[in-house]
Amino acid sequence: MKKNHLQLVITVFFISLFIIVLITYSLANFFRDIIAVTIIKVILTLFVFFIIFMLLWEIYIFLYFKSNKFKNIKESIKIFIYKCNELNQHIEELKNSYINIKAIDYGQANYTDKSIYNYKRPEFIKLRDSKNVYNCSLSVCTNAKQQPFKYICKYFNIKTNEETLSMFERVLNDFSAAEQGKYLLKNERDNIIKSINGKIPYAIRKFEKNNLIKKLGFTEIDFSHLYFPDFCFKYVSAGGKSSMICNFVFNIENLNKFILYLADLIKFKKSIAGQRALMTSELREKIKYRDKYTCQNCGLSIQQEPNLLLEIDHIIPLAKNGVTTEENLQTLCWRCNRSKGAKIGDDINNKICNGQTALHEVKDI
Ligand SMILES: [Zn+2]
Repeated sequence: MKKNHLQLVITVFFISLFIIVLITYSLANFFRDIIAVTIIKVILTLFVFFIIFMLLWEIYIFLYFKSNKFKNIKESIKIFIYKCNELNQHIEELKNSYINIKAIDYGQANYTDKSIYNYKRPEFIKLRDSKNVYNCSLSVCTNAKQQPFKYICKYFNIKTNEETLSMFERVLNDFSAAEQGKYLLKNERDNIIKSINGKIPYAIRKFEKNNLIKKLGFTEIDFSHLYFPDFCFKYVSAGGKSSMICNFVFNIENLNKFILYLADLIKFKKSIAGQRALMTSELREKIKYRDKYTCQNCGLSIQQEPNLLLEIDHIIPLAKNGVTTEENLQTLCWRCNRSKGAKIGDDINNKICNGQTALHEVKDI
């Protein structure tokens, strides 16, 4: 339990006590009726007991989490907690997939707002400094709502070429794994807690679940979707009184659609024409099914580990001109995929150190 929580309870207790004494006296004098006074006293006594109970409960859980018994339970599942936290960290890294490829620095200029109108509204100040906001006319804002992909590519300088397509395929691949990973991780965590159910007092499991998870040492799973990149078209009238904002979020569904949109516009190079598959959510599932939900490197499958996070890997990486074809895709468990990724990262670093150029550069985004 947080220290603040305990302090809060104590403070509330003393304030309540003061108010109770005050009310009892004033009401008793006011009514001069023995039944009314008794009822008030009973209610207030119950209230005092409730406050005392809450206080004792806080002290009990504080002492329980400090006890050796709890420390021993924690020690016995240490390795599983460590594995969970490792996966959680991996998921957080996957979420950075898009941020990591935003390589272009457009520079920074100073901006002074000298308007006497409404430009200083807090929501505009927040949007003004964001890089994914385009200030535009009302017609662009309205049109962007009708055809978001077209306008995002045009106004945010996203080139409709194969490089961009590959990049967004990778983002979708990582984001899908992150989304799936979160739920697998939660299941795994719940299973671990279930395995020690008999050892933890019922009341603590029932009423202090979140606290228990924290005290056991699990890092918090972030279920928010805030990491999905968003693009915004903003129109503010000359007087600053009317405004319109068109917001577009690249969630899993929109990323899938965007990949189809890009593929439609791009004329694939002749050498790989007809061979290229699109890395959509559908294809990911198809590859996993083909590989029988088994890691093609270590052989671990979801039969052995039901909450195993499986990822789709390019056998020849996109960075080495590998393409998205079914033959070039395989299912790997997240551990194998991560160690493979680290190895390729080292290869690239070595080549840069040796004076060779980096194998890929992502431009214009
Ligand atoms: Zn593996």
